[in-house]
Amino acid sequence: MRITDITQLLEQWAPRSLQESYDNSGLITGDSQLVCTGVLCALDATEEVIDEAVEKGCNLVVAHHPILFGGLKKIDPNHYVGRALIKAIRNDISLYAIHTNLDNVIEGVSKGMADQFGLLHRSVLSPQKQILKKLYTFVPSVHVDAVSTALFQAGAGHIGRYDQCSFRQAGEGSFRASEGANPFVGEIGVLHREAEWKLEVIFPAYLEKEVLMALKQAHPYEEVAYDLVSLSNEHPGVGAGLIGELPEAIGAQEFLNRIKHLFGTPVLRFSGPADRPIKKVALCGGAGSFLISKALASGADVFLTADLKYHEFFEADGRMLLVDLGHYESEQFTIDLIQSFLAGKFPNFAVLKTGRTTNPVCYH
Ligand SMILES: [Zn+2]
Repeated sequence: MRITDITQLLEQWAPRSLQESYDNSGLITGDSQLVCTGVLCALDATEEVIDEAVEKGCNLVVAHHPILFGGLKKIDPNHYVGRALIKAIRNDISLYAIHTNLDNVIEGVSKGMADQFGLLHRSVLSPQKQILKKLYTFVPSVHVDAVSTALFQAGAGHIGRYDQCSFRQAGEGSFRASEGANPFVGEIGVLHREAEWKLEVIFPAYLEKEVLMALKQAHPYEEVAYDLVSLSNEHPGVGAGLIGELPEAIGAQEFLNRIKHLFGTPVLRFSGPADRPIKKVALCGGAGSFLISKALASGADVFLTADLKYHEFFEADGRMLLVDLGHYESEQFTIDLIQSFLAGKFPNFAVLKTGRTTNPVCYH
């Protein structure tokens, strides 16, 4: 198995096109064609994590945070980023980051947090728009099932918790083949009418290549007629943050204690009412202050995130509990998420979790 086989699977889960514009997800260093000897999953590809990868014989580190992030001008051995890169390159260790693209899928970073509370009725807190497309195609009657099956297998037709969604309508197509054509039905130079179905399916834009390839392979015509339309609908499974409900409402004090216990946080910073029952929980791993207004609008009793600044604590405005539990703490379960995803796909392959805690923040 090559490194690219692993990264391709990761990108089916969290497509790179879903990363934010400022991000640097993907292969940061290393040859994707190398045979993979083992994967080490971490939150940060620090020097000590790369040492651990060497010790454990893993030549691929999959980390949530890209160690190479800003516009680095030099690889400086006196800086922690430079040291990590030099060590990785010297030891032929590939570094792969799965960052905001994993934040932006409902089965990603936020799931790692939501699972701790057993949240029910989950949805994305801020669903993304402009990433869905609609395909309309026109298929002769006897092939319509084969074409729709191929489109579903390529990932089209998913709406929320439903798959194989499509719409079809019977009609009649017409065409006249020119000299040199090789028509599936009809004759050269003669107008032909054929009973066809108009078939429509929805799909995320990042699957366009796969969906069109499946269409062209399954459709019998030499020239396949189809229309692609960009939609402004929200994608229910793509976007930042998550909202869900606790199985049972609990008091705010008990909820705060539960966070400390589940996430191993010795201290929490919070604002807002600490005496109301908590049922509806909004959350976002890492720096999530950009979602405070979405959490308020969704009617959440609490918004759980990290990296909040002083003035941002005012924005809860007495209407919900706003909790900062620490960046590392909020995202720590992402390591388990990546590891179990890969181990599930490659049960007989070494996919390990780091034993190093890379949280740079201490509490006193
Ligand atoms: Zn983070």
